[in-house]
Amino acid sequence: SLTLGIVGLPNVGKSTLFNALTNNDVLAANYPFATIEPNVGVVPLPDPRLDRLAEVFGSARTVPATVSFVDIAGIVRGASEGAGLGNQFLANIREANAICQVIRVFDDPDVIHVDGQVDPLADIETINTELILADLQTLEKAITRLEKEARTRKDARPAADAAAKAKDILDGGRTLFSAQREVDISLLREMHLLTAKPFLYVFNADEAVLTSPDRRAELAKLVAPADAVFLDAKVEAELLELDEESRRELLESVGQDEPGLYALARAGFHTLGLQTYLTAGPKEARAWTIPQGATAPQAAGVIHTDFERGFIKAEIVSFEDLVAAGSMASAKTAGKVRIEGKDYVMADGDVVEFRFNV
Ligand code: GDP
Repeated sequence: SLTLGIVGLPNVGKSTLFNALTNNDVLAANYPFATIEPNVGVVPLPDPRLDRLAEVFGSARTVPATVSFVDIAGIVRGASEGAGLGNQFLANIREANAICQVIRVFDDPDVIHVDGQVDPLADIETINTELILADLQTLEKAITRLEKEARTRKDARPAADAAAKAKDILDGGRTLFSAQREVDISLLREMHLLTAKPFLYVFNADEAVLTSPDRRAELAKLVAPADAVFLDAKVEAELLELDEESRRELLESVGQDEPGLYALARAGFHTLGLQTYLTAGPKEARAWTIPQGATAPQAAGVIHTDFERGFIKAEIVSFEDLVAAGSMASAKTAGKVRIEGKDYVMADGDVVEFRFNV
């Protein structure tokens, strides 16, 4: 499945956040036999629709979609001036599908900032610079090879040109993701360029920031159009230890109406370009993860590969129509249940029953 790699300068709260990500019990509850790597944190995507569906269908349980975060330790300023980013760091981050940068905006004289002061923009630029320099190294090696190939093979020309263009963009201090309209990144896919991945920013904040809409808007603007999430990593870790009522009190005291991990899960899902569709029956009401733009057979394939191969059609009703009708039977009577074929592009919140040959 797709993952977000967590990066950030030392002492910004990565480990604290990652502990909160791994201490939630969604995996144990829903996937008792799943084995996951110690550096992977899996969080449920909160979805109130599942509880409504479970009511409508009398489902015994709900199973949310999940988002996976990988802890990628070890980026420090100047890595590129010395031996470069560590090999393990590079290997891990290349495998991530998106990058989640944690930025410190909390004040605490007891926690030393590597650069002596809390400066979110400087932190963002430091990390960007390291990733840009790593990509430049990758590109410089590749360009020599691609140019040679392009001299003898015409079909290698577009990739060589894209690589040259990408180098220009990076030389100008910009990430490839932010310059997507200027260069066809897909031609360079095999290079696993770090700055071509989508970014998500987590501002590890204190109460002063969390309760200030102006400050939040200012910070969000620094990273737009990327998603920004505001949370207090220490509070997130504490929340998991509390019962429902104490949890609500603690959240209120820092001006939040839900755990920051919820917002993080949603933003992670969005950054990865994912969406969900829903299935329900007496056993469970469940959300399934698909890429935005997935067709009905591709969606069926997420449940079982045989379902994609044997796909015949899908019976689909939107969540809103189903809930308004009150039951699947009433939704059918009301003409709200559509029969869709193999070219249908799924919409978020489609409630689906697949018909297939096995
Ligand atoms: P990492 O180096 O990025 O993994 O940072 P850590 O998670 O180890 O955090 C560094 C220090 O900052 C630890 O002493 C944490 O307890 C503290 N810390 C982390 N998050 C917060 C926060 O939101 N507020 C405050 N005040 N301290 C935090």
